[in-house]
Amino acid sequence: MVSVDEKLEPIFQEVLRRNAGEQEFHQAVREVLESLGRVIAKHPRYLENALIERICEPERQIIFRVPWVDDQGQVQINRGFRVQFNSALGPYKGGIRFHPSVNVGIIKFLGFEQTFKNALTGMPIGGGKGGSDFNPRGRSDGEIMRFCQSFMTELHRHIGEYTDVPAGDIGVGGREIGYMFGQYKRLTNRYEAGVLTGKALFYGGSRARTEATGYGNTYFVQAMLATKGQSFDGKKVVVSGSGNVALYTIEKVQSFGGKVMAVSDSSGYIVDESGIDLALLKEIKEVRRGRMSDYLRAKGKGVYFVNADAGSIWDVPCDVAMPSATQNELTGKDARKLVANGVTAVGEGANMPSTPDAIRIFQEAGVLFAPGKAANAGGVATSALEMQQNASRDSWTFDQTEARLATIMRNIHDACAETADEYGAPGDYVLGANIAGFVRVAQAMDALGVI
Ligand code: NDP
Repeated sequence: MVSVDEKLEPIFQEVLRRNAGEQEFHQAVREVLESLGRVIAKHPRYLENALIERICEPERQIIFRVPWVDDQGQVQINRGFRVQFNSALGPYKGGIRFHPSVNVGIIKFLGFEQTFKNALTGMPIGGGKGGSDFNPRGRSDGEIMRFCQSFMTELHRHIGEYTDVPAGDIGVGGREIGYMFGQYKRLTNRYEAGVLTGKALFYGGSRARTEATGYGNTYFVQAMLATKGQSFDGKKVVVSGSGNVALYTIEKVQSFGGKVMAVSDSSGYIVDESGIDLALLKEIKEVRRGRMSDYLRAKGKGVYFVNADAGSIWDVPCDVAMPSATQNELTGKDARKLVANGVTAVGEGANMPSTPDAIRIFQEAGVLFAPGKAANAGGVATSALEMQQNASRDSWTFDQTEARLATIMRNIHDACAETADEYGAPGDYVLGANIAGFVRVAQAMDALGVI
């Protein structure tokens, strides 16, 4: 395990003490602190005024009750969260996640990561994250709407175009954003398009926002491969998940000539020897909201399905792995298997999908490794473009928006690579992303006084 610099160790110990039991948050903080030893050696002033301690402490944490009535007339209760982590660079910005695993530690880790990710985009946005332990699986459309309305009934007090601008994440897509925006509008009596991003096109959304995270990760990996004179063309790719990020990763990888061999959901994974049929997968996931086994039933020949408890998608041999489901889905054991099978690049579409052990194994094996806070920043960057369009009451074409996204991803790639070089660790995108993101946030906080 990489160690935390001895000057930073007390800060980490204090984070552990103040946030007991929040393992994902500890993991995210530790990964950033591990990179900062080189920064404080070069710029000791970042140790002054408890700057790093302040960056590790959210500005505000809101936890609330979300009561709602199900289709049987029974009252259900969930817990809602919004962690407003850091607003030194702009209004808090980050998605909302609906998943039964959600708790305050998960939302804090996501908000912490988001702060550096948003800084890396170079756009004027701070970091935040929210969500609920609500499980949307199997819920009717009416139940989803009533839940979203109740969630927003509390959340609306804490957000706003200039305050905090949520978007989607796991379990929250265009439908849920629509229900939440509708409730916000009723409660505030304001058509404040810039309060939420990920809206549908016909009421203020941005073209290419749906595609942005998956496309962005693919652009990032393309840039990494190019540093070795390689491209996606002819490469075998495995993409975990089959939600928003995964589907549009597959779309872009295929357009670059890559062959996507396998995808998954929480029930298991499928392998399609002839390459994933994206139109079929989209039909199953976006229209029918079905399961992975539906793909096997529809396609049959050349396809096999492996149950989640019988194996890992990372057993499937590939040149490029793009984990796009959830945190800690790719373990040390998975990384060893991928390396043994000859993987050359990994691009994290999800947030923190690789365990620290897995990252170490990839880096020691010389695998190009793109951490989520850089590689999946295309989603939030395009959300910031949506805010720009809303503020100017304008609407850009798909090509114009995608061109901006491609440039932003290239800039993030270059910033990470150049920072890694500057700090004596060429090719270490984890270090590059952590330091480049940290320096931007730290400079702003420094300039704003003790905040
Ligand atoms: P979706 O809800 O659209 O899709 C999530 C996918 O991951 C589903 O296929 C889901 O399967 C699967 N999944 C979720 N939990 C697990 C689990 N424990 N084990 C296996 N599979 C699981 O979410 P998104 O695609 O939006 O988000 C995916 C990841 O990308 C998350 O880490 C998110 O934070 C990150 N991200 C998303 C952005 C965005 O713009 N949407 C931006 C940046 C990062 P099932 O349906 O069976 O649960």
